[in-house]
Amino acid sequence: MTKHDDIADALRQRMQALTGRIEQLDHDLREPANPDFAEQATEAEHDEMMEALEESSRAEVQQIKAALARIKDGTYGTCANCDEPIAPARLEAVPYATLCIECASAA
Ligand SMILES: [Zn+2]
Repeated sequence: MTKHDDIADALRQRMQALTGRIEQLDHDLREPANPDFAEQATEAEHDEMMEALEESSRAEVQQIKAALARIKDGTYGTCANCDEPIAPARLEAVPYATLCIECASAA
């Protein structure tokens, strides 16, 4: 047990949920366009929304993977900029934060 085991578990669960969502979105996006012309405009809009959602989900998966790697190599919870510990409350709110609140707000 390391002190970040529960965070790692939560991150893995979150990543699984995101991966499932990405698969579902991929599946929905591959569905053929509606042959009804009037429906196509709204469908294109809907597809755009789903693509944006898929993109943000993929970005979050990347951040989670990076956080899991940092937990493994022991740099998790340390600010990448000033080497100070990141406040636990911040990690709770943003589990894959790489900067402490001071550096993040200065950026
Ligand atoms: Zn910092």
